[in-house]
Amino acid sequence: MVIQMIGEKVICRALEHCGVERAIAVIGYPITELGETLVEKFDGEWAVNEKTAFEIGLGNSVSGLRSCVVVKHVGMNVLSDPLITSTIHTIGHGLVVLAGDDPGGIGSQNEQDSRYYGLLADVPVFDPNPETLFDSIVEAYRISEATKCPSIVRLTERLLRAECSHKGGRELQPPEGYDRNIWEYSVHERHMKFIRERYQIMIDFSENTHLNVVKGNYNEENNGKVGIISTGYASQVVDSVVDEDVVHVKLSVVNPLPLSKISYVENLDRVLVVEETSPFVERQLSTKFLGRRSGHIQNTLVDENEIRLALDKLDMERVEWREVKSKEERGNVCMSCPFIPLFKALRRVDVPVAGDVGCIYLTTHEPWKSVDVAFVLGSAIGVACGFEKGVAVIGDFGFMHSGVQSLVHAVSHSRDLVVVIMLNRVAGISGRQPFREAEYVVDIAKTICKDTTLLQASSTTEEELFQIISSKIEGGGVSVIVLEGSCPETSSPYQ
Ligand code: SF4
Repeated sequence: MVIQMIGEKVICRALEHCGVERAIAVIGYPITELGETLVEKFDGEWAVNEKTAFEIGLGNSVSGLRSCVVVKHVGMNVLSDPLITSTIHTIGHGLVVLAGDDPGGIGSQNEQDSRYYGLLADVPVFDPNPETLFDSIVEAYRISEATKCPSIVRLTERLLRAECSHKGGRELQPPEGYDRNIWEYSVHERHMKFIRERYQIMIDFSENTHLNVVKGNYNEENNGKVGIISTGYASQVVDSVVDEDVVHVKLSVVNPLPLSKISYVENLDRVLVVEETSPFVERQLSTKFLGRRSGHIQNTLVDENEIRLALDKLDMERVEWREVKSKEERGNVCMSCPFIPLFKALRRVDVPVAGDVGCIYLTTHEPWKSVDVAFVLGSAIGVACGFEKGVAVIGDFGFMHSGVQSLVHAVSHSRDLVVVIMLNRVAGISGRQPFREAEYVVDIAKTICKDTTLLQASSTTEEELFQIISSKIEGGGVSVIVLEGSCPETSSPYQ
């Protein structure tokens, strides 16, 4: 029986089908809601950062539990260290990373493509469409246990919200579990064994899985016809545009790349590659294949119009890039935000201000212009350590996520730096979910930096904040101001 439900529910069902017992998540668009559901359903927990989340998953795996780790795409950067090493280390029970990508950059600081971590870590990567989502999760666990490596399943907002169908996947066999005899081999030997044995299993799987399909009227004599290779949600968009005359290779397992499926289209005259965010598949093919590199696919969020435009110009070798105009709506802080006096005071200071990711990220542009740079979560203090003299402003979540190590560096290297930590005890920009580690912020800051002051946002004016920050800059050394404020119940950033 075919069952229809939205992507998020399909993921839940598939995890239940696989006997997953734990879910570890880190908040962030587009996987916050999914994380909330899975943490509740699978005896889960929110982790302070993605590296910790993945390490908990590794611990689950070697101690006999199937688990999943739910992070957004930039979180993949943070967990990549243990991910990459886990491949030749080996794991036990299935471990799957559900990586939420953000083509279109709707709620993130970049649009990076999580699939590249499959190439770097040599792990299987699934990029499912609404028809293959359920089976992709099940097969991700199966191949994880067969190869003793984690798997990555790439998700996007559109896939999570899409109407998906499934018939229920194959039953999983009980896994062998973790084998500590791997320590009989050196690092180099483990790597050699991986290449000869477990990576070959991944290749066989990718070449033969039912998740990679060829549609359209393919035959040996159809030279001159058009072919398309697509992956992920874009496969469904392609299906809605093309007819049976087009040979359509729909990939849901994209690492290792199934070259036998690609061979169905490689002799056709013109082949378009359609995938979201980056030319991950296209870059692994020759330049004869058209797509992002040739300018045929220009938007990172692929829609029907984009594909029709590309097909209309398929006889051209190269398509001119369309101009990027600055017209998109920018997010803004809540009108009743308790930190508005801080944002105004920061605009007036005459040293560079490093911001972070979170609500402070919404003050980079007019009418605030409070911060000069804001790279990634937890980066403000480290970046400000690179200023001769400056200010770092960071949320409590960013501080605990990965900013705290940079405060240690700032103090131990006698930098001239004022650190402002916005303490609101919630993940403000993600929907004000409680952040339990916030209770340690003041004590940790005081332990690292003696000159730590706790101020209340509700009773500190813009002028007072400006004077305090200016005098601390003037005095030199490292000082920390923890500014405590509460987000009003009804407030919502991006309003
Ligand atoms: S969520 Fe809270 S911290 Fe963020 S802008 Fe709104 S009120 Fe300010």
